[in-house]
Amino acid sequence: MSSANDLSYVHPSPTSPWGTYLSQVDRVRPYLGKLDRWVETLKRPKRALIVDVPIELDDGSIAHFEGYRVQHNLSRGPGKGGVRFHPDVTLEEVMALSAWMTVKCAAVNLPYGGAKGGIRVDPKKLSITELEKVTRRYTSEIGLIIGPHADIPAPDVNTNGQIMAWMMDTYSMNTGATATGVVTGKPIHLGGSLGRVKATGRGVFVTGQEAARRIGLKLEGARVAVQGFGNVGSVAAELFAKAGAKVVAVQDHTGTLVNDRGFDVAQLSEFSRTNGGIAGFKEGAMVSDDAFWDVPCDVLVPAALEGQLTAERARRVTARLVLEGANGPTVPEADDILAERGVLVVPDVICNAGGVTVSYFEWVQDFSSFFWTEDEINQRLDRIMVGAFENIWEKSARHAISLRTATFAVACERILIAREERGLYP
Ligand code: GLU
Repeated sequence: MSSANDLSYVHPSPTSPWGTYLSQVDRVRPYLGKLDRWVETLKRPKRALIVDVPIELDDGSIAHFEGYRVQHNLSRGPGKGGVRFHPDVTLEEVMALSAWMTVKCAAVNLPYGGAKGGIRVDPKKLSITELEKVTRRYTSEIGLIIGPHADIPAPDVNTNGQIMAWMMDTYSMNTGATATGVVTGKPIHLGGSLGRVKATGRGVFVTGQEAARRIGLKLEGARVAVQGFGNVGSVAAELFAKAGAKVVAVQDHTGTLVNDRGFDVAQLSEFSRTNGGIAGFKEGAMVSDDAFWDVPCDVLVPAALEGQLTAERARRVTARLVLEGANGPTVPEADDILAERGVLVVPDVICNAGGVTVSYFEWVQDFSSFFWTEDEINQRLDRIMVGAFENIWEKSARHAISLRTATFAVACERILIAREERGLYP
């Protein structure tokens, strides 16, 4: 079955995000049984909104940005998924990210569908006032389809608690009542949840620990390489270091650093926060970005953007274990190469599901106006991640399929059963 799709509004390639997603769906089809009848549901978003976001810049000129909110699937509940601000955002990318949210939420059994949003903008070039205007205008525009019971945005690349606070405020001003449950990843005193900021990185670590144990890889002394040192990569790195592993290579948008003895991750995080990146950190050597892929390591954590693990790079990976902190970092051909080379890949749709899991906790806490302790949150998060991983590991072993296809099998079955039980309307 080819991964072609007859949607007129996108033109995916085999390595583009939507093309990658479509081929992942094709790979799960043999395991769907009678539910395969509904597979086309997964291959097209339910709804995609493109909005114009005009703002007045500080110099008095008017700028227009393109924004999107895509609801890929709402069969199991309201849409859920982050909003990304990045100059390379496209409709196709947001579609793929929304589809991965559908699969991710179902994989950890959250009562959500999948959605995603984005604005094609470089937020680093905006002043704080301009950033707030972009956020508020975008929120107003997508206000047509978001809502606490309809579709709940959250942080993603280059968005954070402050941006969620502006989104919550804008939505609430427009609807006339404070609706904390309309977004997650909010600041703590605005209905945010303890543990949310670190949740994605924590989930990467927890699934990594589960996978490492099963392949006999000891984390104590293991060499870890991390691509992307934002909210996901830095927290995962910190937890691996705490478990006795050595973080020997780190890459972000400012450069690549290596340190054979292992970084002091807390210090590097602090440096990166104050300096806007890792470049210039003294306790390591700067190498070319391409050299990152050759650093000898046991665990590789791609936690930056999609499409980073190309076929060429997959041939150079030295790790035994790849933990996908980012969404869609591995193209399908690279997946095959890694499998042939005996490298275990814990796919994004389970590996980085910790973030949306604690988003779910946040949303539940907002509705009940009763807030949990950080320990309660971390315990529940760990329980969900470990349980979901076990289930997927077992599916993968039973059918001799990759963890990615196994995760898609578990998730797509849940999604398509809901689809079938609801029935077609009219
Ligand atoms: N942006 C995160 C992700 O890709 C979290 C989404 C959410 O919390 O809704 O999973």
